[in-house]
Amino acid sequence: MPWFAPDDVNVEDPMTELEREVTVVRHPLVENSLVALRDAGTGTDAFRRHARLVTLMLAFQVLEDLPTREITVETPLERVCGQVIARNVIFVPVLRAGLAMLDAMSDFVPGSKVGFVGLERDEQTAIAHSYYQKLPSQLADAETIILDPMLATGGSARATTDLLKRNRATSIRLACIVAAPEGVRLMRERHPDVHLYTAALDRALNDRKFILPGLGDFGDRYFGTT
Ligand code: URA
Repeated sequence: MPWFAPDDVNVEDPMTELEREVTVVRHPLVENSLVALRDAGTGTDAFRRHARLVTLMLAFQVLEDLPTREITVETPLERVCGQVIARNVIFVPVLRAGLAMLDAMSDFVPGSKVGFVGLERDEQTAIAHSYYQKLPSQLADAETIILDPMLATGGSARATTDLLKRNRATSIRLACIVAAPEGVRLMRERHPDVHLYTAALDRALNDRKFILPGLGDFGDRYFGTT
């Protein structure tokens, strides 16, 4: 049997198994921005810039298979055919950190709609509590993309997905910047149809439900509320 046969893969390795459950977007430019986001010495302006860059790069993968249709335009010289996105897209940033990903993602999809979900994590119990929601009506006929940079316990992602499905969303993806194994597992158990995309799959959660090594509190660092 050749050494590279599939049987030779160590299926017991939990990280390998987990990596199959999520699309980890790997690129030297993503790594470069991730390390800046992780660095506690990175100030608010640079943190915002790198959060935008990582989101732009994630968008390539998250939106990779959107259907297109042909249109014709006039260049200054002649007519040419091109492709435009032919699918309704709804972005749902989970307040407040998800807002950090909204502009970069929606820049790619003119005419996209935005729904908002406000979830606050109880610092003691880490349970997500909903305080606001405003969703477009076309969820049944759209690609719905949840934006939440930190997939920690998965409680917020799960609660948001529950809410979207109750509102007739049928095709849902989740884009995050850093994911913890706990969050990936919860989403796989509760919502196996939701495709997960992340720039990093980290090691674990600490006892305060922060991701390790992570980057700290994303919202605080992005909005300068530390
Ligand atoms: N939310 C954050 O902002 N950071 C974490 O590490 C976990 C959840």
